[in-house]
Amino acid sequence: MSISHRARPEIQAMAGYQPGEQPAPGQRVIKLNTNENPYPAPEVVLAAIREQVAGPALRRYPVPDARPVREAAARAYGLEPDQVVVGNGSDDLLTMLLRTFVAPGAKVVAPAPTYSLYGTLTAIQGGTYREVPWGVGGSLLIRAIADADPALVLITRPNAPFGFACGLDQVSALCRAVDAPVVLDEAYADFADDNGLSLLADHPNLIVTRSFSKGFSLAGLRLGLGFAHPEAAAQLHKVRDSYNVDALAQAAATAALDNLDAYRPNLDAVIGERTRLAAALRERGLGVAESQANFLFARVPDGDGRPWYEALKARGVLIRYFPEPEELADGLRISVGTPEENDALLAALDAVSAG
Ligand SMILES: *Cc1c(COP(=O)(O)O)cnc(C)c1O
Repeated sequence: MSISHRARPEIQAMAGYQPGEQPAPGQRVIKLNTNENPYPAPEVVLAAIREQVAGPALRRYPVPDARPVREAAARAYGLEPDQVVVGNGSDDLLTMLLRTFVAPGAKVVAPAPTYSLYGTLTAIQGGTYREVPWGVGGSLLIRAIADADPALVLITRPNAPFGFACGLDQVSALCRAVDAPVVLDEAYADFADDNGLSLLADHPNLIVTRSFSKGFSLAGLRLGLGFAHPEAAAQLHKVRDSYNVDALAQAAATAALDNLDAYRPNLDAVIGERTRLAAALRERGLGVAESQANFLFARVPDGDGRPWYEALKARGVLIRYFPEPEELADGLRISVGTPEENDALLAALDAVSAG
């Protein structure tokens, strides 16, 4: 007999996170659905991984607290190693944040639409997830967030799935308005005009998370960084899995952080293509908002994204379509690819439009 009925009620009640589709290895698709970087990581980063494979690293445990990565991150971003926590992806940092700050029944509040994993992680924790709408022009409804009595606030900046970035002055004001940690999920900050790291000095309740999956071309390794006040970082370290970042990932992260300039050409190429792709989509009658991330949210003229998603998929182009909530159902979230991939998407769109 199954023991599924013995699972905690909150686990039985939840659906589980639905990741974007990952095609089978070797399957030939234009993959513009999960916001990976279309370019490989710089050679200096790949060489650091190969060097680990050749040495004793794989049969030994990695450094438990990823100290060398934290030192490299501190050098790269002008912080102290005690302010840095390293995660097995930034999702791992989100898990640590929920474990640390959200007791059963406590409230997690996020301006939405946003990253759907937040609700899943809150459910696992037995917390209550409350979404607050974005204000006009992608602003933060600070009063509404504070009035929701949060134990933790989660803000994606730049936001997903639209790509706008709320004002940093508003993030500051929110940090002052709530007696709770405010997490700035900066998974897409490498493509943005600015970021919230400079706010850390003035706001001990601010926590910034970063991902190596988008800007740094290392989604397959699973790496993320958390930046916080040293006392908050110390709490997060207690709930980490003991060896949460493997040796290859630590070597790659250190090389990446010590060679941020080597990423500039990749990032500039994506940012340039973002502008070109947005213009080309608008020319075709789609409504495309300004984006500071490596994706665009494009609203189709006839109000239903699903047939477009399916027709593109039939032509070998994967993009992301969100049937829910309703305000996303007329949109296609398209990751910015290489010029060739973006041209293939545009050609497929033209073919779909032509019927
Ligand atoms: C992709 C993404 C993440 C997860 O990044 P990983 O480092 O791959 O775990 C976190 N937050 C947002 C908003 C994302 O889009």
